[in-house]
Amino acid sequence: MTDIAARCIREQPRFKGIFKNKGKFERRVMLASPTMHNEEKTFIDKAFDEGFAGRNIARLEKEAAEYIGVKHAAALSSGTAAMHMAVKLAAERIYGSTASISVSGGLGKAGALHGKRVFCSDFASPTMADAILFEGGEPVFVDASDEDWSMDPEVLEIAFQRYPDVKLVMMNHAYGFPGQILRIKEICEAHGALLIEDASESLGAKVCGKQTGAFGDYGILSFGSDKIITGSVGGMLLTDDDYSAKKARSRASHSRVATPWSQHEELGEDCRMSDIVAGLILGQFQHLEEHIAKKRAIYERYQEELDGDIMYMNPVGEGTEPNYWMSCMTCESNIQFQETRSEREYTYTNQHGTASPMEIYDALEAFNVESSPVYKPMSMQPVFREFDQITLDGSKREYAEFDQDGFWVRCDVAKECFERGLCLPSDIKMTGEEQERIIEIVRSCFD
Ligand SMILES: *Cc1c(COP(=O)(O)O)cnc(C)c1O
Repeated sequence: MTDIAARCIREQPRFKGIFKNKGKFERRVMLASPTMHNEEKTFIDKAFDEGFAGRNIARLEKEAAEYIGVKHAAALSSGTAAMHMAVKLAAERIYGSTASISVSGGLGKAGALHGKRVFCSDFASPTMADAILFEGGEPVFVDASDEDWSMDPEVLEIAFQRYPDVKLVMMNHAYGFPGQILRIKEICEAHGALLIEDASESLGAKVCGKQTGAFGDYGILSFGSDKIITGSVGGMLLTDDDYSAKKARSRASHSRVATPWSQHEELGEDCRMSDIVAGLILGQFQHLEEHIAKKRAIYERYQEELDGDIMYMNPVGEGTEPNYWMSCMTCESNIQFQETRSEREYTYTNQHGTASPMEIYDALEAFNVESSPVYKPMSMQPVFREFDQITLDGSKREYAEFDQDGFWVRCDVAKECFERGLCLPSDIKMTGEEQERIIEIVRSCFD
């Protein structure tokens, strides 16, 4: 946004009085940025002194596994690397090993999924779908539940009716608010399918007292720079399976074999976590509960002041304890705003009594506040558009002809969230006073 455009917004009468003299925040208020403490430095210094011997990694893996309640946590370079590793390991468990394919079918000819379909959350980041495609599989997108914004178990059942052969399911806990993982796990078991649980955003969140990431056959954590605790980068693969844990660690370090020369018996990668990053995360881990408490206070303040007739905050599922990583608001469906989005651009009309998500986004930006539209569903992304999407109404492919006449409105929770939702600043360094002003800006958008 240009300075002039920002000033034009700030000068609108509806924002009068929020700042003196049409001012704005001097320090930018962030969506979610790293919050560092002092302990991190001690661990990093230790890694320096020991010549990166891997002690931080070993300790972090032990502490994380204990905290989550799984047998193994393998420290990897990022959440994305952990996701890709999980897909490969799961696919090999289901369909056989890549190594044998590489030898008989020729290197690189087929990924571990070799053309098989995988059910994947539609309302998510592209990490899951990317990993499926990199391994030569075909994602089928499963719609979200409006009760928690994560995969809808009822839709998953419909997906299994249409594609009964599917043996792998991948779901995420959107924005740190857990989904119906118990029900999803049950459905997977009934169909003999493995489950990958993406807890990248939900570290510390619980379902019936048990940590997210511990329910799936594989769990994923991310320590990326916007996450609730961070190593600036970093990720983890969680599992109770001894073989998978061993394989993940070995494969992430070039599949080295203990021989005097470099001996290559299997394909390898280089995606192990560094000892420095592990040190950073060890220091951060001590502040996880404190970060969750602050995120929760932010969410509750928004909820108290914004949740009502015109907006609601991300829903908290029954029996779940979110980590409140990201506070998101959604304009109620009875609020008729005028906003249009093309692939890359948007427009809206200011109207009294309503506000569109991008109108609020622009207003916040004008006051130097970062916000973000919620996930654009995978089924709406150009790169994934050819793949099937299942909602409560069934398969998109079945309903394609209805779409043509432009009249049929198919139930599509993920799309509805995208069109009406906005992630609000949830940075734990944001002060109460700053948040009050942000709430005032959001409210004023409806004038
Ligand atoms: C952050 C995030 C990832 C990616 O993790 P990286 O550590 O950045 O690779 C994957 N999935 C979700 C849902 C995330 O929020």
